[in-house]
Amino acid sequence: MKEKPFGYRKSHSEPGPGDGGRTGSWRVKRPVIDLEKCIPAKRNKPACFTCWVFCPDNVISRTIPPVIDYQYCKGCEICAEECPADAITMVDETIFIKE
Ligand code: SF4
Ligand code: SF4
Repeated sequence: MKEKPFGYRKSHSEPGPGDGGRTGSWRVKRPVIDLEKCIPAKRNKPACFTCWVFCPDNVISRTIPPVIDYQYCKGCEICAEECPADAITMVDETIFIKE
């Protein structure tokens, strides 16, 4: 039998289906916007959007009111830290688990 050339063997692992960057179930806390405090929501005018600027995953919309896409939010808390109106609270994910 003919020898296989060096380098023929390779890993048997195969790439699986990607999750497209979705967070899945590992986020510990999720940011929740209080629309009573959120500046554009209160004024009904395009203003602030600091959370939109700072979110590293670009998952907050620049709309009135701003909306967070929880499918992709990683719960990093940057938006809550940067919000000048203290309108974003990080809420424990266990609260949202349905029995
Ligand atoms: S940073 Fe705070 S006040 Fe500004 S748009 Fe976002 S949630 Fe509203
Ligand atoms: S917690 Fe992080 S990833 Fe989620 S919306 Fe805020 S800044 Fe973006």
